[in-house]
Amino acid sequence: MTARILDGNALAQRLRADFKTRAEALAARGTRPGLAVILVGEDPASQVYVRNKVNACAQAGFHSVRIGYPADVDPQLVFARLAELNADPAIHGILVQLPLPKHFDSDAVLKAIAPAKDVDGFHAENVGALMQGHPRFIPCTPYGVMKFLADAGVDPRGKEAVVLGRSNIVGKPMAMLLLQASATVTVCHSQTRDLAFHTRRADILVAALGKARFVTADMVKPGAVVVDVGINRLPDGKLCGDVDYAAVSEVASAITPVPGGVGPMTITMLLANTLEAAERELR
Ligand code: NDP
Repeated sequence: MTARILDGNALAQRLRADFKTRAEALAARGTRPGLAVILVGEDPASQVYVRNKVNACAQAGFHSVRIGYPADVDPQLVFARLAELNADPAIHGILVQLPLPKHFDSDAVLKAIAPAKDVDGFHAENVGALMQGHPRFIPCTPYGVMKFLADAGVDPRGKEAVVLGRSNIVGKPMAMLLLQASATVTVCHSQTRDLAFHTRRADILVAALGKARFVTADMVKPGAVVVDVGINRLPDGKLCGDVDYAAVSEVASAITPVPGGVGPMTITMLLANTLEAAERELR
């Protein structure tokens, strides 16, 4: 079997064209979706992510502000800026790029973002709303995965879904969304015994561990849909996912590549959340 490749760039492009049209409709009513991105420090990967987010906003016709601070900034300055952004009517979404430097209490920072502008969906209030089944903002990466599945015609209802990883930003919300879509969900982590036993039962396998090519062909059920969230840098500088793409493609029925799979969808869903926040305000 050679898997169908789920192309994140193509899906992202289609969705973003729709967002641009919706942003134009809002502009005609006097509102431009606005996103503020706060970056503390000079981490090169974070700088790239923030740049991509700001560029994506510009392409979709959104307003965006990039706010940078040196790594040793006094956290009180960041809190004060967050309070201003919370009150700024031109800003519908606020995002603080993680990870923050060690002297920051990340939970306190996330809590300082107004829940109605928390487009990453990390505020406890939004996490709780997701858990209760009426989400306000869905965290962007798992939101992108669900869009992928829907676009590929994969209905999780009644399927065995296995999520590798239990982080707050990917694994846990991913599991919750699959559960809400009526899959039977298993969440695996570093303490899981006999991981392959679980992965081989998966009709839908989502890998979010951060371990290069960890999921091998013998761990995958023939015909499974495999979604690779991982982004790992190899010694030669190239990127790869958590799945052994070449070998697993021979077993799975559908697979997302890295790069060009979940990555472009994550930023796309950030745009979706920002747009939805702006539209909600006008309702
Ligand atoms: P974390 O490091 O926060 O979480 C990794 C999870 O994987 C943990 O729950 C950990 O278990 C589990 N894990 C680690 N090793 C193993 C193992 N050997 N067997 C089973 N489980 C294991 O990572 P994130 O969730 O933030 O990210 C995961 C990956 O996704 C990374 O590669 C990251 O770069 C990528 N990513 C990609 C995005 C995109 O847009 N495509 C967006 C966000 C992340 P435990 O809890 O027990 O430690």
